[in-house]
Amino acid sequence: MTTYLKEGRRAPGSEWLKNHPRFLEWFYDVSKQVIVKTYPLLKRINPKFAEKLMIRGEEISKGWLFNCQMCGQCILHSTGMTCPMTCPKNLRNGPCGGVRANGHCEVIPELLCVWVQAWERSQQMQAYGHEMQWIQPPVNRALQGTSAWINLVEKIDTETPPGWKLAEIKGN
Ligand code: SF4
Repeated sequence: MTTYLKEGRRAPGSEWLKNHPRFLEWFYDVSKQVIVKTYPLLKRINPKFAEKLMIRGEEISKGWLFNCQMCGQCILHSTGMTCPMTCPKNLRNGPCGGVRANGHCEVIPELLCVWVQAWERSQQMQAYGHEMQWIQPPVNRALQGTSAWINLVEKIDTETPPGWKLAEIKGN
């Protein structure tokens, strides 16, 4: 089983890349095209192998670069190429009200707030920077450990799980 980097740990070189989010948003577009084209082919040949390959590829590449926590519903490009699941509170919409005056995290004071970083990086992004303003739905924990790449191709990441829809409130 994969051991994820502990909250707040940054892999060598990854911070430099994340601080160049315009390159990363271009790379996101390219890799998305590659995954959308290759996964269905691989799945047709060997579905189990295709799934394992996607999960492992994601754990290694995004684990190193983004400290990916394998939530299975990637919204990185909407959050300044900064993984929201590395926020100690796992907020999908941030920041919380506890950001310190110096921009550091309430929970891990020695670290910059993930959401402060996300905001600053999003301001440099041309294609997806505006998505930082979007309100994200709650993360579906049932997808934890699955491949966000597969969930993107299969459109599972945008499905609303049964029972999540608000009941219609009828007037008296
Ligand atoms: S949003 Fe989810 S899939 Fe994307 S990097 Fe973060 S934990 Fe990984």
